[in-house]
Amino acid sequence: MNNLVEMLSYPRRAFSPMEELFIHNYIDSISGMMKDSFGNRMIQIGNDVDWCFTSHTDTVHRNSTKKQFVHLDAGYAYKLDGDVLGGDDTTGVWLMLNLIHDNFPGLYIFHRDEEAGGQGSRFIASKSPEVTEGITKLISFDRKGYGDVITHQRGIRCCSYDFAQELARQLGGEYYPSQRGVFSDSANYDYFIPECSNLSIGYFNAHSSKEIQDLIFAEDLFRKLKRVAWDRLPVMRDVNEFDNNYRKPVSRKSKKTKKTKKTKKAKLTKKFGDVTWSYYPNYGWFPEEQEQQKEEKKKEPQSKKQSDVYQQEGFWNIQDFDDLQDSFFDLNRKKGKKKGKDDYDPYDDDYWWW
Ligand SMILES: [Zn+2]
Repeated sequence: MNNLVEMLSYPRRAFSPMEELFIHNYIDSISGMMKDSFGNRMIQIGNDVDWCFTSHTDTVHRNSTKKQFVHLDAGYAYKLDGDVLGGDDTTGVWLMLNLIHDNFPGLYIFHRDEEAGGQGSRFIASKSPEVTEGITKLISFDRKGYGDVITHQRGIRCCSYDFAQELARQLGGEYYPSQRGVFSDSANYDYFIPECSNLSIGYFNAHSSKEIQDLIFAEDLFRKLKRVAWDRLPVMRDVNEFDNNYRKPVSRKSKKTKKTKKTKKAKLTKKFGDVTWSYYPNYGWFPEEQEQQKEEKKKEPQSKKQSDVYQQEGFWNIQDFDDLQDSFFDLNRKKGKKKGKDDYDPYDDDYWWW
C-alpha cells in the first residue's frame, strides 16, 4: 500500500514540476499505464469492465516547488503553515493506486487540471470519448466528508437515485445519496455515461488552510471499495432525459420590491409549471406542498429533520452555485454571525442546511 502521508507532501499546482514528479514517481511507474496528449493517465485492469474510477493529480497549491511538511495527529493529516493540505485529491489518487496495486478490476483515469474546471476530463469527454467505451458507471473519488454518493452536480442529475442508493448501501457507514454535489470530473461525462457520481473520501475544508484528511477513514474506504459488486450496480439513468429536479433559490442580495417578487413568481411558475409558490422572507421562494406530498409527510416520523425532508424531496439542488453562495452568505449575516469573507467556506455543510 502506498503511503498517503508521503504522497500528501507533494504540493501540486496543475502542470507544476512537483505534479510531474508525483506522476512520475507514483503513476507512471505502474506498468501498462497510458497517457493521452493532454497528460491524463489511464489503465484498465481486467476485461469487460463497465465501471471507471477517476481522481485528479493536481491540487490548489500556489507554490509547488518543494515538498511540504504534513502534520499527523490521531489519524488526521493537516497543515499548520497557512497553505492547503491537498487531500483533494491526493486521497482519490491514493485509493486508485491501491486498487490497481491489488489488481482490482476497473478502468482507472487520473485526470489533469481538475481544479481549473475539469480540463483533463473535458478533454477526454470531447476529444477522445472512446477511452470510456463500454463504461456505464463512472465514479470520482473527489468529495469532502464521510457519506456522500453524489447524484447531482451543479444542480443537474448525474446518476440515478437507485444507483446511488445501492452503492451507498454496499459501502455502508454514513453513505447516502446526496444532491449537493458542486463539480468533479465525473460531471463532464454525464451526457453520455448513465451513472456518474462522486464519493466522499474523508477530507474536509478543501481549498483552505484548514483542510484535514481522515487517514483511517481513507483506509477503511479502500477496503469497502473492494467489497462493492461494481458489475451489478443498477444502471437506470437515461442520458437523454434532462432531469435537473431543481428549484433555483432566490438570492437575497438585492432588495426586493413587491413588483420584482411578482415577476419572480411568474418566472418560476413559467419554468416549473403549475405549482403554487410562496415567498418566505428569510428563505426565498418555495413551492407549496401538493396534497400527495402532505399525505406522505404525515406518515413520516415527526422527529425527522426538515433538511432531510428537503433533501429527499429534491428541493435543494444546486444550479446556480454563485447565487446559492450569496444566499447563504446573506443568511448568515442576517443571523448576526460575524463571518469575514475569508472565513466563508461554501463547502462547509453548516452553510448549506439550517
Ligand atoms: Zn478535487
